[in-house]
Amino acid sequence: MKKYIAVLLLFTCIFGLSSQAAAQKSVPILMYHSIDEFKGSGIRDLYVSPKSFEQQMRYLKANGYTLLTFERWDEINKVEKPIFVTFDDGYKNLWNAFSVFQKLKDDTFQPAGTIFAISDFITKPKRLSGPELLEMSNSKLFSIQSHTATHPDLRNTPNSEYELKGSKEKLESITGKPVIALAYPFGFFDDRVIAETKNYYKFAVTVKPGMFKETGQPNELYRMPRIFVTYDMTLKQFAEALHK
Ligand SMILES: [Zn+2]
Repeated sequence: MKKYIAVLLLFTCIFGLSSQAAAQKSVPILMYHSIDEFKGSGIRDLYVSPKSFEQQMRYLKANGYTLLTFERWDEINKVEKPIFVTFDDGYKNLWNAFSVFQKLKDDTFQPAGTIFAISDFITKPKRLSGPELLEMSNSKLFSIQSHTATHPDLRNTPNSEYELKGSKEKLESITGKPVIALAYPFGFFDDRVIAETKNYYKFAVTVKPGMFKETGQPNELYRMPRIFVTYDMTLKQFAEALHK
């Protein structure tokens, strides 16, 4: 009888695990930089126009997506269609994204984005200032996370503690909220960078294209891929990218 129960338990366990694995979702993490018209200077694909951005967010709203930030990571297997909307480099033009979020917010849809700010660039004219980051953070529409202090290649920088710990502390002092996620500048990382990042962060995103899928691989939360949303992407291509 005991043996029978043990076998039954084993079966329940295996079946339970496999059905849990089957339920695991692919999670798109979108990557944006500037939300502005491209006017010819810089790299076209580091921009998405405010109009396209609004269409894309309207698509997510109409199709039942749940916009998450990294503080709510544990909910990826609980909510409908989880998705992350991330912005690298902390440009001032993200105010355009803020306007779109405010416009689309209602009882059925709570917009949320993650801004990966470069902590030493906050005083530069084209970047969001400390008070602006605080206002965006307080709106609950944005989570402010780190893109290091000076945007170096972390594989070669002599000041990795300043880049990782220093930027985290500076951003936390601005928003009063924990900084738990890092975007590697240029997407560059190696095993040593991951080991150091783990001292200060729970998550790190790359620029490797693709969807995040939980597989149990070591350090999978420190090598998360993202979907690069480009300037000329049509809404159809945007929708397709969410299902690849
Ligand atoms: Zn960057």
